[in-house]
Amino acid sequence: MNILKTGIYKTIATSEAFVKGMMFDCRTCGQCVLTNTAMVCPMSCPKGLRNGPCGGTTCEKCEVYPDKSCVWVRIYKRSKQRQNGIPILISSPDSNLHHTSSYLNFLNGSDKQTRIPLDYLPFTKTKEYQTKSKLEQKLKQGRFVVTCEVRAPREGDFNHMMREARLIGNSFDAINVTAYLNGKPSLPSALAAAKLAEEGFEAISQATCRDHTKTSFVSELLQNNMNGVHNILCLTGDSYVGTPKIKQVFDMDSSLMLYEARHIREKSEINFTKQKLKVAPRQFLGAAINPFSTPLVVPVQRLKQKAAAGADFIQTQIILDIPGFQNFMDCVVEEKINEKLFILAGIPVIVSKNAYKMLPHIPGVKLPPEVKKRFDNTDDIRKEGIAFAREMLIEMQNMDGVSGAHLMLFGSDHNVLLEVIEGIHLKNEKS
Ligand code: SF4
Repeated sequence: MNILKTGIYKTIATSEAFVKGMMFDCRTCGQCVLTNTAMVCPMSCPKGLRNGPCGGTTCEKCEVYPDKSCVWVRIYKRSKQRQNGIPILISSPDSNLHHTSSYLNFLNGSDKQTRIPLDYLPFTKTKEYQTKSKLEQKLKQGRFVVTCEVRAPREGDFNHMMREARLIGNSFDAINVTAYLNGKPSLPSALAAAKLAEEGFEAISQATCRDHTKTSFVSELLQNNMNGVHNILCLTGDSYVGTPKIKQVFDMDSSLMLYEARHIREKSEINFTKQKLKVAPRQFLGAAINPFSTPLVVPVQRLKQKAAAGADFIQTQIILDIPGFQNFMDCVVEEKINEKLFILAGIPVIVSKNAYKMLPHIPGVKLPPEVKKRFDNTDDIRKEGIAFAREMLIEMQNMDGVSGAHLMLFGSDHNVLLEVIEGIHLKNEKS
């Protein structure tokens, strides 16, 4: 007899869905974690994130529905457990259990795998190199690194991207390859990163939970390993805003991505399938954090969770508010999180009026009045943008706990990046 089809089962499942729907906005995931989330349902997060907020939350509001408060801010505010220690890590839901009764799944144990928190792997950051990444080597040698980015082509021609890479490649320690910006198709980041690696550049490929299933993410790791790309940045991904709305995956969140990649690196086994690998990808693992999410406990705890899940380095959201970032870093240093991973400060390079106008529309970014005044009053935005980025770069080198900077160019002229770093003596630079 199929228990799912019995009248008693249907009655329990329907009553549970009705009552929890009224009380908690339940989405009937069938593997309830309310007791771990201060009785706020994480599945009501539009990205379905089960381990913490994305970087798009601003002023405690949701990125996708800015008139609503962020589900995860509510959870953090209500939960003492979330505010202390290392936040737990919960697997992504098993879709086989969707629209079934969580009570009955609990009683028969079928939800165990996805409801009980995962065991973090033992902390293993060592002075020895864990991968073949040159970025890892430089960071562990104590050098202040500077990274930047190029965009994977939207069509099948790498010429333009490679011209940019050749222009800047030897002046930076690594180059991120962005792809699928705003959910728009492009060549994959891993493929474009392989192209950079082929010419000897240190590449960082990027993967977003918005666009990847667990399977396609692991295949990116395998691809990177084969192609000499030793770094990957694991991101949640901005919500797609185009019309018609595309299917956004969110099969896992960025902490679970890190966990999977680290599991593979250290155990030579794919965690979600338990498949053993003879040649396991050993990637230097990056993640992002928005230091300006509020309250401050949110980004600090999220950072701790990402470190525990496996992040080796962080590239932060763009910094426009230096005192705000200093505040965040003070907490990071006090809690010694910077001893577990390397933090690269996100520096914006704003060199056109169009780029400047875009800033307030970037999820998670707030424009402080003094910066607004500075850019509003300038007659030469290119000059001002370069000066601003240079000041930030110098400031970041002297900030406790910061190991490098990541320059984000808002525009297409990569020569600007060379002007930003020109003549700046980078700390610990080998002469
Ligand atoms: S965690 Fe799942 S079962 Fe629990 S309230 Fe949310 S959607 Fe419903």
